[in-house]
Amino acid sequence: MKTIGLIGGMSFESSAIYYRLVNEAVRESLGGLSSAQVIMHSVNFAEIVGYQTTGRWDLAEKALADCAAGLERAGADCILICTNTMHLIADHVAASISVPLIHIVDETSAAIKASGYRRPLLLATRYTMEHGFYTNHMRALGLDPMVPDAEDRQTVHDVIFKELCAGRVEAASRDAYLAIIEKAKAKGADCVILGCTEICLLLDPDQLCLPGFDSTRIHAQAAVTFALSGRREKMVA
Ligand code: GLU
Repeated sequence: MKTIGLIGGMSFESSAIYYRLVNEAVRESLGGLSSAQVIMHSVNFAEIVGYQTTGRWDLAEKALADCAAGLERAGADCILICTNTMHLIADHVAASISVPLIHIVDETSAAIKASGYRRPLLLATRYTMEHGFYTNHMRALGLDPMVPDAEDRQTVHDVIFKELCAGRVEAASRDAYLAIIEKAKAKGADCVILGCTEICLLLDPDQLCLPGFDSTRIHAQAAVTFALSGRREKMVA
């Protein structure tokens, strides 16, 4: 089994989910008491949010590239940035390592296309919905993503940072998200991307009025598929 390197802490609420998901998927595949070989570098999220809010993506690049290089030195065979937003600098991180970076947009797009959908609504932070790195990447892969209008983008963003990343799950926020999805459905969306790694705390992707694609689950599963590639036998406890 290969070793999965996770750059986590953005926020730790979702990194804990990644940790659980990769371990559950390995146990499911290999059986018995099998679990994932994982190394995580969990950052101080407040520092990263500081770079985001001041637009210092150069400092974020350096911080996450250093994490990735450290994980590789420690023995990671692949690297995941456990947040959609910080894929804004994924190319820089990928360039700083010689092992593969498993890219959340590639994996999420592939899952959507494999299910036959084409026009996803992207729910994510403002950075992810507005900076273009995510939607342009999906367009290059043949999808036609849409984002909520400006007011709804602010709502989605605020719920992520003020509630979900702070460990709070509010019923009123769930209702607000569901209303935004209904609006997008009326405008032609054929599926929804939970494009922030904490949204799965708020929404069950299987209980929406459109098919839901949880970027956290898809990304974690891709890491396990990589880690187990070339090794499929079940182990007995
Ligand atoms: N985890 C979130 C995401 O997937 C937001 C936190 C961050 O800004 O990195 O985008």
